[in-house]
Amino acid sequence: MSLKKELKIKRLRRKALLPRVIGIILADILLASGALYFGTLTVLSMFADTLVENYKSCNTVVQIVNAYKADAQSLFEKITEIEKLDESIAKVYLVDDDFEIINSFDNAEIEFKKEFQVSQAKKDLAKNGIFRNEIDEYDDVLIEFEKLSLNSLNIHSLMFKKNVLDSAIKSAATAGGWLALKTETENLNVCIKTLYPVYPDKYNMLCLLLISIAAAVLATGVYELKKIVIYIIEQRKVNKLVFTDTATGGNNKEYFIKHSAKYIKKNPDYVLIQLRLEKYRNYCTAYGVKEGEDLLEDLYNALSGVIKPKEIVAHLEKADFALLLFSDTDENIEARVNSILDTLGGARENQHLLFSVGICRVETRRDDVENLLTSSGLAITKRSESSNNIVWFDASMKEEQVWERHIEDDMDKALENREFTVYLQPKYSTKEEVLSAAEALVRWIHPSLGFINPGKFIPIFERNGFILKLDDYMLDEVAKQQAKWMQEGKKLVPISVNVSRAHFARYDLAEHICSIVDTYKVPHEYIELELTESAFFDDKSALLETVKKLKSFGFKVSMDDFGAGYSSLNSLKELPLDIIKLDAEFFRGVDDLERSNLIVGDTISLAKKLGMQIVAEGIETREQVDFLAKQNCDLIQGFYFAKPLPINEFEERAYGKTEPQQA
Ligand code: C2E
Ligand code: MG
Ligand code: MG
Repeated sequence: MSLKKELKIKRLRRKALLPRVIGIILADILLASGALYFGTLTVLSMFADTLVENYKSCNTVVQIVNAYKADAQSLFEKITEIEKLDESIAKVYLVDDDFEIINSFDNAEIEFKKEFQVSQAKKDLAKNGIFRNEIDEYDDVLIEFEKLSLNSLNIHSLMFKKNVLDSAIKSAATAGGWLALKTETENLNVCIKTLYPVYPDKYNMLCLLLISIAAAVLATGVYELKKIVIYIIEQRKVNKLVFTDTATGGNNKEYFIKHSAKYIKKNPDYVLIQLRLEKYRNYCTAYGVKEGEDLLEDLYNALSGVIKPKEIVAHLEKADFALLLFSDTDENIEARVNSILDTLGGARENQHLLFSVGICRVETRRDDVENLLTSSGLAITKRSESSNNIVWFDASMKEEQVWERHIEDDMDKALENREFTVYLQPKYSTKEEVLSAAEALVRWIHPSLGFINPGKFIPIFERNGFILKLDDYMLDEVAKQQAKWMQEGKKLVPISVNVSRAHFARYDLAEHICSIVDTYKVPHEYIELELTESAFFDDKSALLETVKKLKSFGFKVSMDDFGAGYSSLNSLKELPLDIIKLDAEFFRGVDDLERSNLIVGDTISLAKKLGMQIVAEGIETREQVDFLAKQNCDLIQGFYFAKPLPINEFEERAYGKTEPQQA
């Protein structure tokens, strides 16, 4: 899986949990700081209001003191009244410059006078230099205080004078702020203790505001927290769903990949097994899809029952299961797999279940589970009808796949660039040993891979259908070449081209071949068509029809590789062929030469009786040539006379001065 895709899936799975949490935290921080900001502003403005109010009240007191300085008694009364009426004022003191209390107005006039005199005496002393400094100092502070008192919250410290404050606190224990102001009378100051730094209604409002803000922050927090919890729960469900297989209700491929990777990373002593229930489609067709899924579920459950802790089972797709099992020797693993297969085989009574197994060993901790799955899957495809149903993956399987991929990627361009080249292998008459015909065999001259033999790409082209294009190309090239030689006045020999079975799907194959050859106006007798043995397994009637048509158009039709694989004498009976080509296997590596020769001899005489020409392929020795001559074989194609040759070399051999030579 590409990194991009992996990240995308990861993102989808853990969709925005972290950003969500961060978002919630940020939102709450934002809300809280907003609230704090506005709260602070409100508090400040309330303090400012209060200060202004207090200052006003205090100034009123100062004005009263100024107005009533001559009449102490009425001054006391007035101030006492103010104390009573103005709810912001708790206590008013008259103090001297030294901040000694001259009087508090709830005491008698005598007291005031007495204190005043004391203070007068102190002032005198001050004049003599005893209190001077302090008084001056205090004056400065007081002036400074007057300037600042409206804006500053730091009133207490500004007006602080220890003995005054102490006595003030003693006499009025209520909470509140302090203000000290000069009066017009020398050495007479008013020191006022205000009852509330914040008025009760405002204080209540502030409390309400703070409580509301806290409640709002808490409510959003709780609400968002609830959302996160719900989200996490949902996410867990989604994750579970993502890892759950819909057919079996068990683990799926995603789960397998993720968890296998985790285990392998810790300990690579594992084998990865892919297990396929063969003919699952067929099973569903016979018993229904529902029953098919039930079977998969039962198989999954059975597999879950046989695995050990830290081993994994999962249903991949269709009827494929994957197992991550602990490693062991090959024999032990196969024994374990066989016992698993026995268990699975019994999942349905009276129903034959067939399984194929591909096994791939984990090599290192870094092995990619998806690659291991591909490898074990590849091993399954290599199981042949006859082989054991357990196939171990080996590197060559992968090489084959890679090769096939390269071939398929390059084939179209190769045709365009004329990288496919016609080679001609001469066929010699057995008796006279004269070059009498040839077979066109393709060679791929690849720009980077060089010379490639057909065995390496024809089977791939046969599987992917490209062979149709290639065979047309070869026929075209051969017809063109024959036309060229014809124009040059050379005596043509028949050249055969191979026609793969895929062509027989065309109902107009004969007409198609005819039209290619006719483009170059080559007489049809000089083109022969070799049908591979596999073509005879397809639709017999269509084959017969095409062969008949080709013959009627004047083409010769031969059966290639007769005797190899499953070609049968039956084909000879059914098809009106002109030529049979005896496969090289007839003459190669036989233990009982006499017996083999007997079969060859009889096949030749049978074909002869049916009016067919015989070509022996793959002839490499003089003995084989002599034997075939004795058996009345018509033509010989093989390395003994010549290998497949490039056109110029063939031309030299067929039309040049050179006599036929042994290869
Ligand atoms: P084939 O049509 O049976 O061709 C004969 C093969 O036997 C050729 O292999 C040839 O080189 C080889 N051969 C001939 N004489 C001897 C001999 O004395 N000893 C040995 N060891 N081999 C000999 P080649 O060229 O590798 O072709 C293999 C097969 O590929 C062909 O078998 C044919 O089935 C297929 N093929 C080749 N060219 C084409 C083509 O253009 N179209 C199609 N459809 N198939 C082709
Ligand atoms: Mg052939
Ligand atoms: Mg052949």
